[in-house]
Amino acid sequence: MKKISVLGSTGSIGTQTLDVVREHGDMQIVALSCGRNLTLIEKQAREFKPSFVSVGSKEDATQLRTMLADTDIEVGYGMDGLIRCATMDTADIVVTAIVGMLGIRPTIAAIKAKKDIALANKETLVTAGHIIMPLAKEYGVSILPVDSEHSAIFQSLQGNVNNPIRRILLTASGGPFRGKKLSELENIQVEDALKHPNWAMGRKITIDSSTMVNKGLEVIEAKWLFNVDLSQIQVVVHPQSVIHSAVEYNDGAVIAQLGTPDMRLPIQYALYYPDRPVLSGEKLDLFKIKNLTFEEPDLDTFKGLALAKKAANAGGNIPTAFNAANEKAVAMFLDRRIRYLEIIDIIEACMDNATFIKDPSVDEILETEQCAYDYISKRW
Ligand code: NDP
Repeated sequence: MKKISVLGSTGSIGTQTLDVVREHGDMQIVALSCGRNLTLIEKQAREFKPSFVSVGSKEDATQLRTMLADTDIEVGYGMDGLIRCATMDTADIVVTAIVGMLGIRPTIAAIKAKKDIALANKETLVTAGHIIMPLAKEYGVSILPVDSEHSAIFQSLQGNVNNPIRRILLTASGGPFRGKKLSELENIQVEDALKHPNWAMGRKITIDSSTMVNKGLEVIEAKWLFNVDLSQIQVVVHPQSVIHSAVEYNDGAVIAQLGTPDMRLPIQYALYYPDRPVLSGEKLDLFKIKNLTFEEPDLDTFKGLALAKKAANAGGNIPTAFNAANEKAVAMFLDRRIRYLEIIDIIEACMDNATFIKDPSVDEILETEQCAYDYISKRW
């Protein structure tokens, strides 16, 4: 029986991971973690009976210990708790479903403990791909993508180990503001940006999808995961979100993965790879869909995507400045402290302000993050 640790079990990916585990009943959860959602993690702990759960703070850990006092589940907190979750002796695979750069240290610890990684937390690869990918190779662990586009690429690569990738076609729905011009985005409110046309996801990634920063993060993630040059990654706006992404080979053949917008499929593929057990839910009906359309991304309106490419081309710690600035700016927008378009202004300003480090260590990545945060609090 495969044993799983889930980092971020109360979030969108975390809960869907547990849906997959519940549906099949042939995997065991050994550890769970969340930030602050004690009610849900208590419920999950009672259902899945892990031996360890971790929460964000010491105070919440004390409260959760009381809530779980009638069980023998251990409770931890903070980064130590996350790292313990990621390195449980009993775990075979760790699902990294926390949001943000918080994922870097636990992911590194999991790799060093020889756990396979089902990777949802894209910010980890965006900022520390140069550390994570070689480390995974050194420790002989698999990084199995959970992001739907990267899972689609991974699925399209099966059976082609000796065939180089000519191009990756990374699809994007275009988000709720596809077709709009920059001036039309001036007065966008939180509620508008949280309305994704096709996918139900966590709040941060939903805002990132609306700015297309998410696609930029995915371009960088794809570069690391599939060891390709940025010039080989073409973003294709495909509003129906049916083709989840594709790979073009040297002979011109394009192999794609299609499906309904259901994150449980890529999650299940990562957990059961290379098997494909039956998954409940609606299946793709091409007759109902009828039309699949494609557009070039509008980089003048969705500057976040252009800035991500600039950050990726600069390399070193600049993707970290890009990512940290975005994390902070999105949180400020969600708190209604800045306007929608200021998200992009903040990212650009932080990229310009960052002192370049070519091959940053984890400490230097985290320092770059802190510098971006300090700069933002000074200026905004
Ligand atoms: P959510 O915001 O829905 O969930 C985030 C999870 O992280 C929650 O369990 C949250 O706990 C936990 N968390 C937050 N702060 C802490 C903390 N300090 N310590 C421990 N845990 C913490 O995010 P998503 O599930 O949407 O996204 C997770 C990752 O997956 C992101 O990197 C995202 O980009 C990526 N991803 C998501 C997709 C999706 O469909 N949602 C698709 C592809 C990738 P709590 O609930 O207590 O706050």
